[in-house]
Amino acid sequence: MGKVSKEKILEILDGYDKDNITIATLGSHTSLHILNGAKAEGFRTAIVCEKGREIPYERFDVADEFIMVDKFADIVNDDVQDKLRAMNAIVVPHGSFVAYAGLDNVEDIFEVPMFGNRDILRWEAERDLERKLLINGDVRIPYKYDDPADIDRAVMVKFPGARGGRGYFVASSPEEFNAKIEAMKSRGWIEDEDIEQAHIEEYVCGCNYCIHYFYSALNDEVELMGMDSRYESSIDGFVRMPAKDQLEVDLSPSYVVTGNHPVVIRESLLTQVFDIGDKLVKSAAELVKPGLNGAFCMQTLVNDNLEVVVFETSARTDGGTNTFMEGSSYSYLKYGEGMSMGRRTAREIKNAIEQDALDKVIT
Ligand code: AMP
Repeated sequence: MGKVSKEKILEILDGYDKDNITIATLGSHTSLHILNGAKAEGFRTAIVCEKGREIPYERFDVADEFIMVDKFADIVNDDVQDKLRAMNAIVVPHGSFVAYAGLDNVEDIFEVPMFGNRDILRWEAERDLERKLLINGDVRIPYKYDDPADIDRAVMVKFPGARGGRGYFVASSPEEFNAKIEAMKSRGWIEDEDIEQAHIEEYVCGCNYCIHYFYSALNDEVELMGMDSRYESSIDGFVRMPAKDQLEVDLSPSYVVTGNHPVVIRESLLTQVFDIGDKLVKSAAELVKPGLNGAFCMQTLVNDNLEVVVFETSARTDGGTNTFMEGSSYSYLKYGEGMSMGRRTAREIKNAIEQDALDKVIT
């Protein structure tokens, strides 16, 4: 099947009433501030909502229109796409949108204008491509081990499909790696093919900063919008146990994000923060034309050498942006008003409409 072409999307946009654009998204993840921000910038809003999941959106009154579906994945169905186009919708993607709609569907059959660069979504989703983007940008990332026999310090082991931290484990030697793999196999958590694809990287012992940027293609500028730190189960519960009990209980912690705290970084590290953001934008422009567009996130750990080490990226609105729906310390410095990521996105779309430059921000 062919990919949804930019020409096709521009043709659809041509038929849109630009004075009546609706900002739409899937009801999950970061949709509250995407839609709240769109309303603040004067747009109509629509939510594609799975039956039974509508309550937060009704109670917070963020959507003018509800498109109810049996399951989130139905957002790519023809009738839903028709409804979206009929309301001149521009869809703002987020993590759950990509996960539920499916990357292949977003690339091949979702013929609704989307904010940002749809081609880059695959680059953040596939670990090897993501790594290529970071290496090409000369961004400091965790050292990667190709062979478990080489493990010579604490490493973090990740499996494909286990993103989000379930089933990750820490090991410090080839023996410990093998023992933990055997234990996971005997519990039926992993298969042999998973083991071949295990991703082994340096365990970065440091503090977590997930840095939210907005790249404005209209202004060619990287803006620092906010930062969060993750609250992860079960590790954050586990570390509340006294060390003696941690050693005695037979629990293997996981790293599943359950919430986020807003955080600010030491001011002297902001030079590195801007540097890595600029580098990722440059790298993406080289590898996935036209590059990043709109929200992106770099998930980092800062070690005691004050190095900002990037272990993950998102090329769309990341979940941690929920920590600054009314603005962050950083978006305050830039905008002096409650600027969420959703509102910043809507403002970019509004500016693009005013400048007749929607083609620069839509894909
Ligand atoms: P991820 O699925 O890559 O976002 O990782 C989930 C969580 O695992 C992170 O939020 C960190 O707490 C932890 N983590 C991931 N990679 C590393 C690493 N290289 N060193 C230490 N902790 C890590």
